[in-house]
Amino acid sequence: VERLMEGKRGLIMGLANDKSIAWGIAKALADAGAELAFSYQGEALKKRVAPLAESLGSSFVHECDVGSDASIDALFEALQAEWGHLDFIVHAIAFSDKSELRGRYVDTSRENFRISMDVSVYSFTAVARRAGAMMSDGGSMLTLTYYGSEKVMPHYNVQGLAKAALEASVRYMAEDFGKDGIRVNAISAGPIKTLAASGIGDFRYILKWNEYNSPLRRNVTTADVGKSALYLLSDMGSGVTGECLHVDAGYHVVGMKAVDAPDI
Ligand code: NAD
Repeated sequence: VERLMEGKRGLIMGLANDKSIAWGIAKALADAGAELAFSYQGEALKKRVAPLAESLGSSFVHECDVGSDASIDALFEALQAEWGHLDFIVHAIAFSDKSELRGRYVDTSRENFRISMDVSVYSFTAVARRAGAMMSDGGSMLTLTYYGSEKVMPHYNVQGLAKAALEASVRYMAEDFGKDGIRVNAISAGPIKTLAASGIGDFRYILKWNEYNSPLRRNVTTADVGKSALYLLSDMGSGVTGECLHVDAGYHVVGMKAVDAPDI
């Protein structure tokens, strides 16, 4: 495993702090010998992201707001100048107005619908197009999704629709890029306490529910997600594209509350 990603260069988007799913993935990739670049949203996050990047031996840290084409272009121009070539990208970015991550889906505003789809769905497409142009020897692209795309989950609301569209975009892009030897996949992660997740209503209850009712009777960690990401981003996943891999302690196969689950 230590040499699985040797000689491979990739971009990690969506690192906010050491609780981020992007961090679990970055560590697994760095442990396997990958060379990493990072993008972060807004100057305020730089002081968190730069030291984390440095601890993995990475000095390329660049601002990028994925809501802006100009900002994405600036990131890829800088990457082109730095490396001129990419082997993989990780897109670990989503956004919805926190005030609408509770209550009813049907109350979603037009503006929150628009921005949720733009930042959580279109951004992966916009980034993939630019990254694909730098993957001259083939490559692998990965995004993060959640089971709320498949089933109704409390408070997930418009993010559920965004993840459904994101997963569909993975399938379309798998076809678009397949001829170039570039694979596109998603990991559907179980709930993990991160900055983004803390905006979701009753998140602690959701964590407990998953812990008591998933086949493995535990929640997943960012390290669990990191290991599966390594599989999809490395040659170990060479035959896999257009896939949505559930890394959720098996929760997605469950049909009812576990008989041994305590009341919460
Ligand atoms: P996080 O808060 O650590 O990461 C979310 C990231 O999105 C942050 O780094 C934030 O800066 C970035 N972001 C938001 N808007 C942006 C913009 N306009 N431009 C650039 N970056 C922007 O939380 P996380 O849970 O690690 O989230 C990563 C991904 O994993 C998201 O797609 C999320 O939906 C997904 N996911 C999370 C869980 C969970 O329970 N935590 C479960 C399944 C999927």
